[in-house]
Amino acid sequence: MAAISLNKLNKHYGSLFHAVKDVDLEIADKEFVALVGPSGCGKSTTLRMIAGLEDISSGEIRIGGKIVNHLPPRDRDVAMVFQNYALYQHMSVYDNLAFGLRNKRVAETEIRSAIDRAADILGLHELLQRKPKQLSGGQQQRVALGRCIVRNPQVFLFDEPLSNLDAKLRARMRIEIKRLHAQIPTTSVFVTHDQIEAMTLGDRVVIMRDGYVQQVGTPLTVYEKPANKFVAGFIGAPAMNFVDVTVRGDAVETSGLKISVNPAYARALQPYDGKPVVMGVRPEHLALGDGAPGSSFDARVEVVEQLGSEILLETRAGADSITVARVPAETRIAPGDRVKVSSQLSRLHFFDPNTELPISG
Ligand code: ATP
Repeated sequence: MAAISLNKLNKHYGSLFHAVKDVDLEIADKEFVALVGPSGCGKSTTLRMIAGLEDISSGEIRIGGKIVNHLPPRDRDVAMVFQNYALYQHMSVYDNLAFGLRNKRVAETEIRSAIDRAADILGLHELLQRKPKQLSGGQQQRVALGRCIVRNPQVFLFDEPLSNLDAKLRARMRIEIKRLHAQIPTTSVFVTHDQIEAMTLGDRVVIMRDGYVQQVGTPLTVYEKPANKFVAGFIGAPAMNFVDVTVRGDAVETSGLKISVNPAYARALQPYDGKPVVMGVRPEHLALGDGAPGSSFDARVEVVEQLGSEILLETRAGADSITVARVPAETRIAPGDRVKVSSQLSRLHFFDPNTELPISG
């Protein structure tokens, strides 16, 4: 059993910089959690504190119920996969895989069977005699994963392990990591700045910003019910459109558009009547055409991005740029065209402009 528990975890670098702030997080045994956020938000520092590679300034870390605050990395029974693979270049793949176990004086026959198992899972058999420099980036990353598997640790920690790979390989390795977790369910923490990676891999996603946890939830929860405007804008690709609107009775408007408010939101928006709020609408919840009554506005097409499977449109409505996704690829459309854009009224989001918290319906 290896649940991880972070309790009021803080990290100060010197007296000036507070990198991780009061992080509370409960990760269940065998759960896969993705830590995501923009560069510098403190996600790697948090992971490194769990690994024992970074001292903690205050708070508590428990692994498997045991406080590990002062335990050195080797005694925490965690295995870490780094962005740069960190393989020993002068050793064969086999010896790289065996290294940690030999250090622990595990018998060679046992080492061989652990390596066989890892090689089966990751398809490494034909690479075992090669040196790391004779491997592609994806193969090196598989060896780095293999090295963790053979140690059979309580916890896997991943620090942006896929960032050095090209887009296609990243997608493939993502599937391999998912498969690996299904085959060997091990408590895992995966740090990434890529929200798609976080959403596709994590049982739950932890979104960080400026050292603080913003939200913890399943991928669907953080997408559908973002805890604040930052999460709403960070999760989802293309990103959510934000439009500064004014509430007018049962509608919201700008100088360039007017949209009816779904009855579910009308009550929550009542106190804002006559005042500004931020409307959030995801590009995939907009479509060309009239849609339901009160749901559409006029816009001018500025940029057409043909993706083959769909068209992505950059439009302008009054002063606002609004991205529209999922336009059928065969649609005949060009920059300068005037279009009607309709929104799914039940999928609009509204945020208080000062607190940036959702105005929930
Ligand atoms: P990235 O995706 O860029 O790696 P991150 O979210 O993982 O970002 P961290 O590496 O955790 O960010 O760093 C958090 C903050 O702490 C950053 O502003 C960084 O500059 C700072 N920081 C990290 N290590 C040190 C250090 N040894 N001394 C001082 N500041 C540091």
